[in-house]
Amino acid sequence: MIKEPFSSLLNGNYSLDSLELAAIQHEIEAETLAIDKIQSTIIDLQLQLEEHEARRQDYKTLLSPLRRGVVPPEILGEVFRYAIEPLYPVDRVGLVCKSWRDIALTTPSLWQTVVMLPSDAPINVKRLRTCTARAGTLPKTVRIIESNGRYRCECRDSESEVDSCRLASPELVRFFTDGPVLDNVDLRSPTHHCLDRLFGLLKSDKNTLTRSWDSIRHLALKVGDWSTPTHGLEWQFLHNLPPVSSLFLDTPWLPDVPGDALPALPSLDCLTSLHMVGDWPNSWILRNLRNCPNLEEVVLNSKESERQDDVWTEGRTLVSLPKLQVLRFQHMATHGEDARILQWLRMPSLRILELSYEIPEPFADQEEDPDTPGKVQLYRDMLRMLSGADGVVDLQQLRLEYFPITAKGLLRILGALPSLISLELATHIGSDRKFFKMAREIETPLLPQLRHLKIQDTCDVFDPDDVCEFLRQRKATATEASPDCVERLDMAVNRYNRNSLHLDESVRAMRGMGILVNIVP
Ligand SMILES: [Zn+2]
Repeated sequence: MIKEPFSSLLNGNYSLDSLELAAIQHEIEAETLAIDKIQSTIIDLQLQLEEHEARRQDYKTLLSPLRRGVVPPEILGEVFRYAIEPLYPVDRVGLVCKSWRDIALTTPSLWQTVVMLPSDAPINVKRLRTCTARAGTLPKTVRIIESNGRYRCECRDSESEVDSCRLASPELVRFFTDGPVLDNVDLRSPTHHCLDRLFGLLKSDKNTLTRSWDSIRHLALKVGDWSTPTHGLEWQFLHNLPPVSSLFLDTPWLPDVPGDALPALPSLDCLTSLHMVGDWPNSWILRNLRNCPNLEEVVLNSKESERQDDVWTEGRTLVSLPKLQVLRFQHMATHGEDARILQWLRMPSLRILELSYEIPEPFADQEEDPDTPGKVQLYRDMLRMLSGADGVVDLQQLRLEYFPITAKGLLRILGALPSLISLELATHIGSDRKFFKMAREIETPLLPQLRHLKIQDTCDVFDPDDVCEFLRQRKATATEASPDCVERLDMAVNRYNRNSLHLDESVRAMRGMGILVNIVP
């Protein structure tokens, strides 16, 4: 309410005299002063409020679960596992505060992997011992990486009197003989000469009762370079391997040396898992596999290049791998013939097969490989793999990645594998989109035991409608005498058209039939 003398003026509509104007102007200035004063007070109070809030937050921070010790050290240690660099476990969290550093130092899982990077200095064996000791009784991994560029070792020169080898050092030999039990050792050497020397020294050391070297379960060896040998082709380190059950071997290829003259693994009865990287000839692969009769898993990684094909001569004997359950071909070249060794392998226990190719070059010369696009030769090799006394009889899982084949060719191959319960297709732009349409039209039901179909279709080759219709139709036409076993469809597509009424209906229908359906973009 305004003051009494002025309130009556609000009801009139007449002109004000000069005295009234001056009086009203005076009142406006008085009110402005009052407003300014109150606003100033509000600002002061606001500042005080913010100060109190900031102080309250500081007090609250002091009461955080970490500062109160509410989070048990072992939980905090587990959290650290997701924040640390394996190379330097305490560098990040250990610098925060003393208690965090103490927790990091006493959390065994942070010390399970010790990595030694290339350096001009000798390998810090003391650090190897300290770190592995902190891992306690947990499985331990030691990874030693040397690189070609910095390595100045003289091992390849047998006449040299300078011995600066980081791998074949007495300290490292002692670590591998009287050090801790090791689960996994990964050695990456620029040449095989260093491994030859190191493994030779370890083999000749018989002084200790409990040898760390003999406790290794998984050994990974990567040889970077090969210089033409002057003393034959033997790689001595292959003959001095510890009794590991799992071996990863990444070696360079010698293009001018015949497959039969190449150095290969000796007989290794203890080996159950072998992973070979390199585009070695198929005859070399077969020779190595023959020497490891107890293998349960084999991975052949072709490094994206064509494997030399020198094995298809008459008279070659079959290779028996009676315990082999898993066989994976990875990074095969489109026109390579890596999988041709299938015809030479006897694998009665095989359950899982993977045929994984590199994405083919878009302008590759198709004439190089007469077998593409029908893969008739692969089909014939698989028929041989499936036939005979020790043939594959119960293959359950098949994974095909970037598999260059026509729909007709794929139907032919899958038709020969009625025992499959799981099929995974990873497609690329050249995959044949007609496959599921054609699969619906054939008379003999395809893959009668199929339970799980998994499709990685990032190039949108297959129409999800076709896939759903294929599964829905086989479920709808199943009978008591020939039931349908499909339980699950997982399909990853590049884009999922939510407006597709037909697809949504198909998905609903399949779910109604008891099939678990996941179609995700
Ligand atoms: Zn060396």
